[in-house]
Amino acid sequence: AAFESLTNRLQNVFSKLRSKGKVTEEDLNEAMREVRLALLEADVNFKVVKDFIAKVKEKALGLDVSKSFTPGMVVIDIVNKEMTELMGGTQSKLAKANKPPTVIMMVGLQGAGKTTTTGKLAKLLQKSNHKPLLVACDIYRPAAIKQLQVLGEQINAPVFSMGDQTSPVEIAKAGLQHAKENQNDYVIFDTAGRLHIDEALMEELKQIHQNVKPDEVLLVVDAMTGQDAVNVAQSFHEQLELTGVVLTKLDGDTRGGAALSVKAVTGKPIKFAAMGEKIDALEPFHPDRMASRILGMGDMLSLIEKAQANIDADKAAEMERKMRTAEFTFDDFLEQMAQIRNLGPLDQLMDMLPGMNKMKGNMKDMKVDEKQINRVEAIVRSMTKAEKQKPELLNHSRRKRVAAGSGTSITEVNRLIKQFEDMRKMMKQFSSMMGPKGPKGGMK
Ligand code: GDP
Repeated sequence: AAFESLTNRLQNVFSKLRSKGKVTEEDLNEAMREVRLALLEADVNFKVVKDFIAKVKEKALGLDVSKSFTPGMVVIDIVNKEMTELMGGTQSKLAKANKPPTVIMMVGLQGAGKTTTTGKLAKLLQKSNHKPLLVACDIYRPAAIKQLQVLGEQINAPVFSMGDQTSPVEIAKAGLQHAKENQNDYVIFDTAGRLHIDEALMEELKQIHQNVKPDEVLLVVDAMTGQDAVNVAQSFHEQLELTGVVLTKLDGDTRGGAALSVKAVTGKPIKFAAMGEKIDALEPFHPDRMASRILGMGDMLSLIEKAQANIDADKAAEMERKMRTAEFTFDDFLEQMAQIRNLGPLDQLMDMLPGMNKMKGNMKDMKVDEKQINRVEAIVRSMTKAEKQKPELLNHSRRKRVAAGSGTSITEVNRLIKQFEDMRKMMKQFSSMMGPKGPKGGMK
C-alpha cells in the first residue's frame, strides 16, 4: 500500500519516543536521525529532508516537552504540523475565472494519468453543479481521443474533438470558443504527453497556453515515480508556469517521495490526488489529511491536539498509566467521563480514533449528558469499594442491590457495567496503539 514502509518506520520511531516519560535532547536526536533515514528511503528530496528535520528539531527543542500531555506525542504533533506545512499547509483550491469559463490545461508525461484525470476532474466539477467541457488536444497517442470520449459518455459530459488531423493549437482555440457558445463554465484541455520532455512538445504546449490563457495549468504526475516526478514537475514549471499538481496512483505502492517533495521543490501545491482507476477516484488534496495518513494516525492527531488543550497533564498521565496497568476502576471511569465531556461529543471523539469505528456500534447508546452522568454516578456510589475495584464481582444479586441503592433499574446497572467493560476493551486497544507493546507496557 502507499507509504506503507514510511509509515511503519515513522511509527516505530514514535512508539519508542512514546515509551519514554522524558524525552532528552539525545532521544530527540536519535529519533530525528531515524526520521531522516525513513524520509530519504521514501525517496523524498535530500534538501527537503534536511530542512524538514532542522525545523522539527528546532521546534521540539523550543518546547518544554516535560510539561506536555506526553512528550512523545508532542514530537509527533510537531512532525505532523511540519509535514502538513511541507505539503502546502492548507488545501489549495481550484482557481475560478472571474468570467466563465474557467480554463484548465492538463499537462504531463505520457502515462501519468492525464486523460483519466481529465475525466475525473470533470466528474468532480459536475458534483458541484458545474458544466465542464472536455477538449481532446492529444492527437498523437492513438487512443487518447477515443479514451476521452468514452470518459465523457460515462459521466455525460460533452467532449470537443476535431480528430487527429488538426493542430492541437487550433483544436484548443475552437474548443474554447465552443465552451463559450455552449455555456460551459469550465473547459478542460487534455494535452499530449511524451515519454520524456522534449522541445517540440513544450513548444506546442506553450502555444496552446498563449491561445487559451488558462486559469489553471495542472501538471499530472505519477506518484509512483518518486523523485522523478519532482524533476518532471520542475522542468515543466520552467517552461509553462504551472499553477498546481495532480498526484496520481496514490492507491499504488508509492513510497511518498513525490507527495512530500513536490511543493517544496517547485513551489506549486498539489491540488488533487487520484487514488484509483475509477472515474470518481479523485479528491481535493488536503495536506493535513495526507500528513496524518503518512503518519498512519487517522485523525488521532486532532484528538491529541484537543487533549493537549483540555486535559490536565498530570491527571492524564496518571490515567494513561492506569489504562496500561489495568488498574482502571469505576471511580476512574467517572472521572474519565467528566474529562471526556470537556473534549466534546463522544461520537465525534470516537471518530477520531483509528480502528474505533467498529467499536462505535457498542458505544451507540452511551450518550454523555448531565442527567445520565448523575445516574451513573449514583450507580457507582452504590457499589462497595471492592466492587468498584473489581467489577467482576458484580453478580446478579449484587447488581440488584446496586440498582435498589441508587434508585435505578437493574437494566441500567447492567448497561453501565457493559459499557464499562467495552471501555476497558477499548482502552486495551487504545493503549496498545499508543504505547509500547508486549508484557511491559500493554494491558493484559
Ligand atoms: P495519460 O497518457 O497521461 O493520458 O495517461 P492515462 O490517463 O491514459 O493513464 C495511464 C494509465 O494509468 C491508465 O491505465 C489509467 O487507468 C492509469 N491511472 C491513471 N490514474 C490512476 C490512479 O490514480 N490509480 C491507478 N491505479 N491507475 C491510474
